[in-house]
Amino acid sequence: MAKEKKVEQITDMEVDFAQWFTDVCKKAQLIDYSSIKGVFIYRPYGYAIWENIQGIMDKEFKKVGVENVYMPMLIPESLLQKEKDHVEGFAPECAWVTHGGVEKLEERYAIRPTSETLFCEHFANVLQSHRDLPMKYNQWCSVLRWEKTSPFLRHREFLWQEGHTIHATAEEAKEFTEQMLNVYADFCENVLAMPVTRGQKTEKEKFNGAEATYTIECMMHDRKALQAGTSHYFGDGFAKAFNIEFTDKNNQKTNPHETSWGVSTRLIGGIIMTHGDNNGLVLPPKVAPIQVVVLPIAQHKPGVLEAASELKNRLIAAGLRVKMDDSDNSMGWKCAEYEMKGVPLRVECGPRDLENGQCVLVRRNDGKKTVVNLADLEAAVAEQLELVHKGMFEKAKKNLEDHIYEAHSIEEAKKLQDENGGFVKTMWCGELDCELAMKEKAGMSSRCIPFAQESLGDTCACCGKPASKMIYWGVAY
Ligand SMILES: [Zn+2]
Repeated sequence: MAKEKKVEQITDMEVDFAQWFTDVCKKAQLIDYSSIKGVFIYRPYGYAIWENIQGIMDKEFKKVGVENVYMPMLIPESLLQKEKDHVEGFAPECAWVTHGGVEKLEERYAIRPTSETLFCEHFANVLQSHRDLPMKYNQWCSVLRWEKTSPFLRHREFLWQEGHTIHATAEEAKEFTEQMLNVYADFCENVLAMPVTRGQKTEKEKFNGAEATYTIECMMHDRKALQAGTSHYFGDGFAKAFNIEFTDKNNQKTNPHETSWGVSTRLIGGIIMTHGDNNGLVLPPKVAPIQVVVLPIAQHKPGVLEAASELKNRLIAAGLRVKMDDSDNSMGWKCAEYEMKGVPLRVECGPRDLENGQCVLVRRNDGKKTVVNLADLEAAVAEQLELVHKGMFEKAKKNLEDHIYEAHSIEEAKKLQDENGGFVKTMWCGELDCELAMKEKAGMSSRCIPFAQESLGDTCACCGKPASKMIYWGVAY
């Protein structure tokens, strides 16, 4: 009874996907609204997902030699203006500090929308010789961009990491840009169970001030695209604008080559929209705040609570994040509650199970039940969590692969998008006009030029001129 009541509280995703998403964010207690529009509060359960993402990703960064730093949150306007393309891109979204107490400041300060300029100023101060290179820095922080908002997808203030590196040569910097994109892609697939398409952004869609932007694009359950992470190669443009120099091996002054790369709490939006269902969240086991919930059945019967506690303690000792719910809520309520919260695995144990030396494991992603011997608990739980991850990844991969369509004209692309959503792949001549035409006539932006190219013909789907690149189009969050 209670279960039905609980489930009714969220809108079906087939009825209204956006409302379903908002319902899940609220009902799973990920987020709350603050008194400023577009500035959200991460509640403990939502923040814990971010902490787990951070913890795992930070280790991956350190494996490739990245060190963490912390930069100020304020950027003097004069500093922001040093790189022209960069300031043009970000100025419209900046929030400004104009007063210190009651005193009007001589120069206003932007609250960081991103920190390239601060890193560049710092690099210029500390870099001297080729022996100092490479410098591979990252910071975990929040940034502020005054733009349209939506929970997890576009916050005015959001949490992210931004990596900034400088290298002696262009080749090394380019290689590192790709390496970091692969770190993100592997993370999405192996940790978040989110399959990605790896590719390059067009000139129009690349980062302001970058020479090249690489991206990982994911497909959400409603078949819209989500840009999940980007990695940029800056060449020596920023270095020249900010006077970053070093003495090379031949004792010549030269500029280093730079990269930057970032992912944000938008990844949590991606998790929700890739894996969630009409019962709520479905969390990938590796980042789930609670990986296993232990539910004692008929807990008033002698021995049940003690036995359930012992199971809980064994799983904690095995290194898992475990909760036992022995509240007086009904079993139906508890099942619905932990489904809503996306807990990957439920352990049920009642008097009869215990008599038989067994308990029951129930997977969140597909509801499959497995009876296991108590003696094998740790191994069985580890195996089931692995299967949850695998099942989630396979399902999302099928959703991605089943909804990539091929088109040879804008009209055909529009028809496919209108009917199916997903990605539409076409050949493209590389011209901005064709990209704009696709946006105007078919409502799709370019998502990426995938690294894994296919030849679909030799003419551009938009203008009919010769084309050698295949590109993915889509409707994006
Ligand atoms: Zn064209």
